[in-house]
Amino acid sequence: MSATSPDRRPLLSRAVHDRAGIRRRDDDWLAAAWGGAQVLVVDPDYTVPIVETADGPRLQWRSTSTLDRDDGHVFLGEYDATAYAGVRGTRDLAADRWLGLREVGADLPEVEAGLLVEAIALAQWHDRHVFCPLCGRVTTSEQAGWVRRCDQGHQQFPRTDPAVIMLVHDGGDRCILGRQAVWPPGRFSILAGFVEPGESAEAAVAREVFEEVGVAVTDVRYAGSQPWPFPGSLMLGFTAEVTGDPTLHIDNDEIAEAHWLTRSEVADQPAFRRLPPPLSIAHRIITDWLDGVLP
Ligand SMILES: [Zn+2]
Repeated sequence: MSATSPDRRPLLSRAVHDRAGIRRRDDDWLAAAWGGAQVLVVDPDYTVPIVETADGPRLQWRSTSTLDRDDGHVFLGEYDATAYAGVRGTRDLAADRWLGLREVGADLPEVEAGLLVEAIALAQWHDRHVFCPLCGRVTTSEQAGWVRRCDQGHQQFPRTDPAVIMLVHDGGDRCILGRQAVWPPGRFSILAGFVEPGESAEAAVAREVFEEVGVAVTDVRYAGSQPWPFPGSLMLGFTAEVTGDPTLHIDNDEIAEAHWLTRSEVADQPAFRRLPPPLSIAHRIITDWLDGVLP
């Protein structure tokens, strides 16, 4: 990437720290690193303490001297010879503000954006795996927060649910934008859906497009990915070209409306139509298509 080209990574895919996975089972190393570690508190609503600086919002990291070693911390990794961890807590701590990933993720520097998305994703996973899915017993956290185990020895590892999000174009100047029925009026985006068990991402793209707007697609091309821990998705971005009849047919409960729009219609959004916020990979894909980076 040249110095003049814009950074086209999705905003939540900017992680630069070392996850240092080999350290998660190294109790001696973890104990030694804990003293100098920087810790981020995640509250039950997945907001984190924020300090306002002249350069914008920043995560409020705490030293470990004020924290209990055994309060369920999660080792996030290392950056610039400092260890980082997440812990669960409440808003009793002093902070300028408490904000969620959606509110602050786009405004953080890349190292903080990467650490925050990891901390939130792991907090969401822990909260949803309190019980063993095999035997129903209570699980406890091990290996610095990267394993949960029940007393029968069944191990659970952090999960990510793949989803596909795709800009469908006509090979020329038009793409499909739609509005989900559960969205507020005026909000439009490209199509998306979860990958089903036993299905490839490419097949999920074709299936979801046909289910949602009734057209067939070909030339499915990968366009980057972004973690989306609400609560545990990995968004896999694609473009796909319509093949055959491009007439849209919406006969499902999921999509309220969908339209073919030209580049200029997408770029020049009227007040009644709002595109996805910059934090979303949908925004990245739409922008890249408008800029001619994607087909
Ligand atoms: Zn079990």
